[in-house]
Amino acid sequence: MHLYVHVPFCKQACHYCDFHFSTNLSRKSAMVDALCAEIIRQKNYLPGPELETIYFGGGTPSLLTEPELIQLFNTIRSHFTVASSAEITLEANPDDLTLKKLTMLRRYVNRLSIGIQTFDEATLRWMNRAHTATEAQTCVRLAREAGFDNLSVDLIYGIPNRPKSLWTADLQQVLSLDVAHLSTYALTIEPDTAFGRWEKTGKLPPADEELAADQFEELTKAITRAGYEHYEISNFARTGQYARHNTAYWQGRPYLGIGPSAHSYNGHSRQYNISNNTRYIAEVGRGALPATVEELTTADQVNEYLLTGLRTQWGCSVTKLDTLLGADFARVQARDLTALYASGWLMRDQDRLRLTESGKLFADRVAATLFVD
Ligand code: SF4
Repeated sequence: MHLYVHVPFCKQACHYCDFHFSTNLSRKSAMVDALCAEIIRQKNYLPGPELETIYFGGGTPSLLTEPELIQLFNTIRSHFTVASSAEITLEANPDDLTLKKLTMLRRYVNRLSIGIQTFDEATLRWMNRAHTATEAQTCVRLAREAGFDNLSVDLIYGIPNRPKSLWTADLQQVLSLDVAHLSTYALTIEPDTAFGRWEKTGKLPPADEELAADQFEELTKAITRAGYEHYEISNFARTGQYARHNTAYWQGRPYLGIGPSAHSYNGHSRQYNISNNTRYIAEVGRGALPATVEELTTADQVNEYLLTGLRTQWGCSVTKLDTLLGADFARVQARDLTALYASGWLMRDQDRLRLTESGKLFADRVAATLFVD
């Protein structure tokens, strides 16, 4: 079983980000109370009691204080069994990561996912990140000093209007850190962000897909040459050090999401919590479920599994597709499968449907081709 806790606060808004968060931290303590109340209310949502992973995402969970973390963990441990080998991840921003803070965090979590994004000072300022290039460079060393050996770093590629050499430099820097795990994302311009508004007024060009594709190719070559496994389209791991929590999402396993904007999946339905801190606190406070529930149809379940499973190196199990569909998937989709094999984007290896190297550039398109009605 897998638990996600959304911490919806950030020091400032990064210009590209459309996640749910508030920069008004005055209700952080009330929010932690509400998160604990929702954990208790939802304790029977999952089909089993033992948590194999816990993930604090956001927002910026590294803004949590020690008493707030203790409150959350006491609540979780009182209502769930946390496996002794559980992966407990917290997303962190480099500007929060002093040695003192890291030493405190290490008492509660065993994995950090650090949002570095780039090591270039001018780009960090342009994206309105709260940290400096120096903090990006030193936080990994400090985290190790505090006892973290399971570290993940996030990087963004496809950033327009800057020399290509800066992406190469970002890759060199991240490789020199030798972290266990790396997540990489192409910059997307979302309408409800500063970049979205800049794009509308012509201050920013539209996202450059060709630039992103070139940089993605450079990335995969450099990272796999350095010995990382490319186990999901956007994720790379040193042998076996996969993000267990995210892998559970991609493999369609049940998870409970707590907090505003969090969503949950129990095998047959999905729940979406409201994306509004004030309303979330008020609704949880009066004992209501701050969520809309969507029952998933057979087609939803098959299509979601195709969309996430094909992004991983394990691909999709044909047996699982048959079970979800209640029919012989390969027979139902025989014509599209044949076309995809011929295009060189998809292959079948015994029970598994997997993307080829060239297919990885078209993962969503391949999945959509195989969608059922
Ligand atoms: S710190 Fe993370 S969640 Fe917060 S605005 Fe920046 S990218 Fe978004």
